[in-house]
Order: sequence, then structure tokens, then C-alpha cells
Amino acid sequence: MPPSEVALSVVVPAYDEAEVLPAFAARLRPVLDDRLERGLGGYEVLVVDDGSTDATPVVLARLRRDWPQLRVLRLRANAGHQAALSAGLARARGREGVVTMDADLQDPPEVLPFVLAAADEGHDVVYAVRADRSVDSALKRLTAAGFYRLVRALGGRAPAQAGDFRFTSREVVDTVLQLPEAHRVLRLVVPDLGFASTTVGYVRGARGAGRTKYPLGRMLRLSLDAITGSSTAPLRLASLFGLGGALLTFLLLVYAFASFALGTTVPGWTSTVAVVAGVGTLQLLCLGVLGEYVGRLYVQLQNRPTYLVASDSLEEPQTRT
Ligand code: UDP
Ligand code: MG
Repeated sequence: MPPSEVALSVVVPAYDEAEVLPAFAARLRPVLDDRLERGLGGYEVLVVDDGSTDATPVVLARLRRDWPQLRVLRLRANAGHQAALSAGLARARGREGVVTMDADLQDPPEVLPFVLAAADEGHDVVYAVRADRSVDSALKRLTAAGFYRLVRALGGRAPAQAGDFRFTSREVVDTVLQLPEAHRVLRLVVPDLGFASTTVGYVRGARGAGRTKYPLGRMLRLSLDAITGSSTAPLRLASLFGLGGALLTFLLLVYAFASFALGTTVPGWTSTVAVVAGVGTLQLLCLGVLGEYVGRLYVQLQNRPTYLVASDSLEEPQTRT
């Protein structure tokens, strides 16, 4: 299909999703073909194979045989969800915009028409927000709620319960792609840009098959990237801690000298240990906060690519079977 005919790109990062991809394709395709038939514009589904080690490439190749709009971008190694999304955005041809969604059916394809209807009304960004996520584990819901609260307390603008299921217009995509930030967390970067946006609520589905690719460690990494990426408030908090600590020390000294002068020196092992340990941990904490930002600076300076593309089915010669 010539690029000019692609009005919409659907970018789907997939890491070891061989089990669920056939079901995903079977539910997504009718929704998009329906738009096509109603003359609402051509589309491409750009699955970003994030260095899968299972049968994902084979399954995708098979699906592509009778689905001309399916395009596969294969990354050389597992780059992570956010980098895979960025890779997809960078290559998506959608003239009007791009929808990003998960491959595991937790973002139900049937919600797509509602998202696109909102986009047609002229919104540059449409967030699909999880109005009901009772299928997620209690731990996941708790950590997510805490995370979004923290982000907002620190000045981030993420809409509550919005993951990476969203529509972004071509203008927004191009703006995001111009940002030089290496480890951008898209769900926080996009709201910060300030484009006209709206939300569409949906019921979070259960994972179609396979296991989550977001163990606790990765979730923590994402949270840290999100916080350091969208706010410098922790740095300021560290300075505030320092200021508070200095004030407290001053008061303690006044008290110590006063009691010394009055001859009522307090026996002080416990208090000494408490102060030393308290100050020590506070210093480590502030150093850690500082380290996070310095680390980000360093990574940014190294300027290594966050992903490498191994192949793009668009660039392969057309084969007919
Ligand atoms: N994913 C990816 N690369 C990764 C981890 C995840 O492309 O390194 C994809 C995954 O295939 C899925 C989406 O990102 O389409 C969300 O991941 P998952 O469903 O495992 O996360 P959860 O819904 O459990 O938070
Ligand atoms: Mg999932």
C-alpha cells in the first residue's frame, strides 16, 4: 500500500507473545477492516517484535500472509516496552495519527472505535483510561495507584489510570519524536506537551494468554524513569531535607550547650546513635536521588541508541504465496 493511503497506524509492541497474537489479530482486524470498508481511511498494524525468543516471528510471518496491512518491525534485542513503542512511533506512517496498544488483549480492540471517534472530533490525544481494572492483581493496582499519586504530587500531569493505550495525532507523534530524551516514558511525556486531549473509559481485559513481561523490577525501573524524567522535585526535596536537618542540628546544639551550662548533661548514647544513624541515612538517600539524575545525564550523554532495528517487513520484497 502506498504510504499516502495509510491514514492510521496501530503500533503494538510484542515481546514473546506468540500465544496471544493470533487471537489479538482476529479481534483487531475486523475493527480496522470495518473502518476501511466505510471509507474512513487505510491503516497499517505495525507490530514491533521486541527481540522475542519464542515463536513470535513465525506467528507474525504466518499472519502476514493473508493480512496485507500487517507490518512487522523486528528489533535486534529486547529493548523494553517503552523503547519498542518509540521504535514503532518512529516508523509509523499513519498520516492522521497513531494508536498504541498492548498485544496481550488487555487493551480490547473493540474499544478502538470509541477512541477513534473521539479523535475524529478533533482531539489530538485520546487516552483510553482503565475505568475498571478488577482483572489486575491487588499488588498491581496498589502499586499503580501509588505511582500515579506520586507522579502527580511531584508535578507530573499523567491522567489517572492511563497506560499506553492512546491515540496521538500526527502532529503529536512528530513532536514526541523531536525530543532528544533517550529513556522517555511516553505516558508522561505526551500529557506534558499540552495538546488538546480527552479520555475514553474502558474495562481492562484479562491477559489473553502468556505471562506478564513486567515483573516488579521492570515496574520499578519504569517508575524511576518516569519520575526522574518528568520532575526535578526529588532534587529539591533533598535540599529541603538538608535544610531541615541543619535546623534540627542547631536546636539540638543549643539544647546540649544549655544543659551543659546548667550542669545537667544528659547521658547520651541512645540519642547520639540515633542522630548519627539518622543523618547518615538521610545523606545516603539524598546521594541516591542525586545519583539517579546524574545517571540519567550520563546515559543521555553516551547517546547510545535505545533500540536497533533488525528488519522491517515493509522493506522486504513482496512475496506472493
Ligand atoms: N512488551 C515489550 N517489551 C518488553 C516488555 C513488554 O514489547 O520488554 C510488550 C508486551 O508484549 C505487551 C506490552 O508490552 O504487548 C505490555 O506488557 P505486559 O502485558 O507484559 O505488561 P502488563 O500488562 O502486565 O503490565
Ligand atoms: Mg498486559
